[in-house]
Amino acid sequence: MLITGSAVAARRAVRRYRAAAADVRTVDCPANFRTSVLDEVLLVVAVDDGDPGWAPLVQACRLHSVLLVREQAASPGRHIALVGGGPGPADLLTVRGRGALREADVVFYDRLEPVADLAQLAPGAQLIDVGKTPGHHPVSQTEIQAQMIASARMGNRVVRLKGGDPYVFGRGGEEVAACAEAGIPVTVVPGVSSAISVPGAAGIPVTHRTVSHLFTVVSGHAPLTDPELEHLAGLGGTIVVLMGIGTLPQLTNGLLQAGLRRDMPVAVVERGFSPHQRTTISDLSNIVSAASKCSNPAVVVIGEVVAVGRAAGVQSEIADLTAAMLRS
Ligand code: SAH
Repeated sequence: MLITGSAVAARRAVRRYRAAAADVRTVDCPANFRTSVLDEVLLVVAVDDGDPGWAPLVQACRLHSVLLVREQAASPGRHIALVGGGPGPADLLTVRGRGALREADVVFYDRLEPVADLAQLAPGAQLIDVGKTPGHHPVSQTEIQAQMIASARMGNRVVRLKGGDPYVFGRGGEEVAACAEAGIPVTVVPGVSSAISVPGAAGIPVTHRTVSHLFTVVSGHAPLTDPELEHLAGLGGTIVVLMGIGTLPQLTNGLLQAGLRRDMPVAVVERGFSPHQRTTISDLSNIVSAASKCSNPAVVVIGEVVAVGRAAGVQSEIADLTAAMLRS
């Protein structure tokens, strides 16, 4: 097959067809086009690069009975999009996020995103795994930023795909600042955050009329200080903890010390939206032992809303049951 159009405009088509193992030839400007090449190809993909000089190509394809399909030019490169991938399943990625992936030349991704579908979502893009596991950082944050910026400077349209929302414990702010400093245009595509959606997957609303009119999202990456624990306990709303399994004992102890009720309901929702979703429910004084076998990724919910979720038809069990059925 033959792909016509300037190298920049045609780059996405060339990559996509090569990734599909097609035998691809390219002609990047009308002056380099020889009709004889049409004797050797079955298909011409004409990328609209805006050059009026391609008009005779259409005629030549007709004469040589070669199939011609037209394709839009790839979006301009030298751009970075931080895309929120949502809590896991590809259908919880936004339409805008899908658009950004479709146009990407390079995708930097982590392990918590809809990775299984990435090859379809970003056809032909170069996929680079910069995934981190807690406490283990294969590629440092500075290195990721440097690689993204270098790639965009080479003329690529870069997507940095993140779990959930880029601005919720996703270092999105730092990456935007790094792009701005490097003079690379950057856009941020929001994502469905696990902080709200994962409790929801287990049937737990983070707010509920007359029960909780506020929720606080906390990182459990490092233990909270005593004043922070006191403020948190004093707020009276729902507490949602991400990355909180490792520090759960410190958090629960601290909240008890700060005066939160021992029988305050607590839920740990692991691997939300996956076939292995599991919800463990207990109270503040017993959750550490009840959740001793729990692991990240998990969202911890502390507050009366956990009981609301249960009362409203024991939905967490129903949700987990649905997940188990999907699994079997
Ligand atoms: N930016 C992300 C959060 C990144 S921190 C967001 O908005 O969701 C990573 C933490 O998110 C995990 O340790 C876990 O606490 C939580 N998390 C993300 N996806 C999850 C899922 N599918 N199930 C349970 N927890 C999840």
